[in-house]
Amino acid sequence: MAKKILIIGGGISGLCAAHELKRRGFEVVLLEAKSRAGGVINTFNESGFRAESGSNSVMVQSQKTLDFIESLGLNGRIANSSAVSKKRFFVKNGKICEVPMSPLKMIFSPLFSFAGKFRLLKEMRVPKHDPDSDPSVAQFTIDRLGKEALDYGMNPFMAGIYGGDPEKLSMKYAFPPFWNLEQKYGSIIKGASAARKEKKAAGNFFKPVMISFKNGLVELVDKIKEGLKNEIILNAKLVSVDYDMGSWQACWTNESGDGCDIFDEIILALPAPEIKNLPLAGTLSARLGILDKIEYAPVVSLTMGFKKSDISHPLDGFGALVPEVEKKYRILGALFVSSVFEGRAPADCATITCYIGGMRYPELFEKSDAELEELALEDLKGLVGLKGSPMFKRIFRWKNAIAQYNVGYGDILEEIGEIEKDFPTVKLLGAYRGGVGVSSCIENGLVLADKIRQ
Ligand SMILES: Cc1cc2nc3c(=O)[nH]c(=O)nc-3n(C[C@H](O)[C@H](O)[C@H](O)COP(=O)(O)OP(=O)(O)OC[C@H]3O[C@@H](n4cnc5c(N)ncnc54)[C@H](O)[C@@H]3O)c2cc1C
Repeated sequence: MAKKILIIGGGISGLCAAHELKRRGFEVVLLEAKSRAGGVINTFNESGFRAESGSNSVMVQSQKTLDFIESLGLNGRIANSSAVSKKRFFVKNGKICEVPMSPLKMIFSPLFSFAGKFRLLKEMRVPKHDPDSDPSVAQFTIDRLGKEALDYGMNPFMAGIYGGDPEKLSMKYAFPPFWNLEQKYGSIIKGASAARKEKKAAGNFFKPVMISFKNGLVELVDKIKEGLKNEIILNAKLVSVDYDMGSWQACWTNESGDGCDIFDEIILALPAPEIKNLPLAGTLSARLGILDKIEYAPVVSLTMGFKKSDISHPLDGFGALVPEVEKKYRILGALFVSSVFEGRAPADCATITCYIGGMRYPELFEKSDAELEELALEDLKGLVGLKGSPMFKRIFRWKNAIAQYNVGYGDILEEIGEIEKDFPTVKLLGAYRGGVGVSSCIENGLVLADKIRQ
């Protein structure tokens, strides 16, 4: 008889696991608390403008993720990011400044001073960190690359990925590529080219690609949901989960009535802070208290549409991230959405998404929509020379937007591993483990399904 699996949480992580388990012949039930599955991923269209509620794109990091997307039949639906979006901007002295992506551009870049550039070169001679240490992103960057690289490099970069605070984030866990290069090659600069050559020689070099879909990221979750019509239960409130004689008995309720069933395994695929609210059996619930230590950044995503003629900057890039030291601005960054993907704004118009809050300014999450709009418009005036008012706007608030892999996160991971050993039929899945990006969530869902099969 096919094993029966209960998945709690229908974001991209839970959906991918459910899809893969079903494909492999398991019986699956997915409980989603809201009236739609998809989690933070959704797309809204109005008068030719498009706003994503959460993620704007997927940075595909592996062939496995690409194969999965193709297996869904979404091949022809992929929207590749534009060539111009390879250009990225940070803010320096109140102005947008191109991030140098090549050594030659770095030499002439105004983003770093002469002394700052010279300090970067010294990175090759800095001793590596103790492998058992867990330096913050800020400490690691200062040690290896200097303070300027932190202020005008890592700080805005971490705001872009995590909405995070580099003083708190762990380099080892929040940005493992740098940590691994240092540990393996003794230098990030030397290691980057050596690692690339090694991967190419071994034939496993995958160049990450940034994609969305012709109708936005919602296409991805909609396609997965299509195959799970009978498995997803929406507006579901879990009432009890008890362990008895080697199985889990779960009961829930929704508008169509009450449900109860027996499961071989359960997957918790909801944000870490929500897990403590689940009515799980006592000992398991107590052990899962560790997940409460995982902080989440609150993020507001405000998308607005403008006439291009109201903006003096050509918006010829992916977007602009604001370093914390640039106190003139309150947004974390602005994404030039319509420059990245086609079909995001009507002709002669532009769509921009501003991200607000994060660990830098969590208090802004409490501001009203009108206050946040005013603040974002003021910042866009300074950043891209905005003159007019928005023709379109859409705001999304995520209290538990992005999990923070802070210093000490290794202990939490270890305990998660112990919990799964002590409760082998309980699996923990989601952006709080193994990567916050959509690509990681997809891959982790698929890998988990494979583990359960084995
Ligand atoms: C504003 C923003 C911008 C982002 N930008 C990018 C980007 O550009 N690129 C990128 O790769 N990533 C980005 N991310 C990150 C990425 O989108 C997320 O990390 C990822 O989508 C999380 O997926 P998930 O399934 O783990 O969690 P979620 O999407 O949070 O899904 C969890 C699900 O669990 C459900 N749930 C909660 N409680 C219960 C309960 N008690 N019972 C049942 N169900 C429950 C929720 O309703 C939700 O549907 C962004 C995130 C945000 C918020």
